[in-house]
Amino acid sequence: MNTTPPVIAIDGPVGSGKGTISRILARTLGWHLLDSGALYRLVALRMIQEKVSVDDSSTMVDIATIMDISFANTAKEQKIFLDSVDVTLDLRTEECGSVASKIASRPALRAALLKRQRAFLRLPGLVADGRDIGSVVFPDALFKIFLTASPEERASRRYKQLKQKGINVSLPDVLQKITQRDKRDVNRKVAPLKAASDAQIFDSTGAAPEDTADKILDSLKILGIPSAN
Ligand code: C5P
Repeated sequence: MNTTPPVIAIDGPVGSGKGTISRILARTLGWHLLDSGALYRLVALRMIQEKVSVDDSSTMVDIATIMDISFANTAKEQKIFLDSVDVTLDLRTEECGSVASKIASRPALRAALLKRQRAFLRLPGLVADGRDIGSVVFPDALFKIFLTASPEERASRRYKQLKQKGINVSLPDVLQKITQRDKRDVNRKVAPLKAASDAQIFDSTGAAPEDTADKILDSLKILGIPSAN
């Protein structure tokens, strides 16, 4: 009997809605959740705090290997702790996202975080979101989704999220930052952002996250995922 827990892999660029949609799917299915970007951001945050250079591969790998992290799911959001300190808000700054995307091009860091990501796989199943979940982290995922949306809509969603969190930014600045980050993620040599060849593409432009999640749940029903209602 195959007891490997099933995985739903959701990849896509900044602001495509993958975080919100993953949370809805995990909650609806009663599965575990992995926000893989948070792991890159946690390493980035520790590096910012300790003033480690983005070129210092060996220190970033040490941080990735030993950092003490935990996640707590509430109905509305996932809280993230680094050494038992709640860093949920600190992780969301553009500085942290930008350092995360710079260090994410380091193969040694990706290898260190690969193990930590795979450790999230548990029964009854895992919904994991990121950039290379379907292509590298869980290539045998049961269902692979590549989520997109227009750059303008992605910038506007990100702008609203940051404002809600009390982070002061301008819309043109957010658009420019996410464009830079997308470019780095798409063009890096190791595990670039791209749809896995067997991924289904969903465009979330103009759609509420609940509607996109419903469409995905409909596709899961066809696959016979029993708890998809
Ligand atoms: O998803 P999020 O925006 O939080 O990710 C922050 C950065 O971490 C991304 O811009 C990307 O460079 C990197 N990342 C990655 N692979 C993943 C998840 C995130 O390279 N699976």
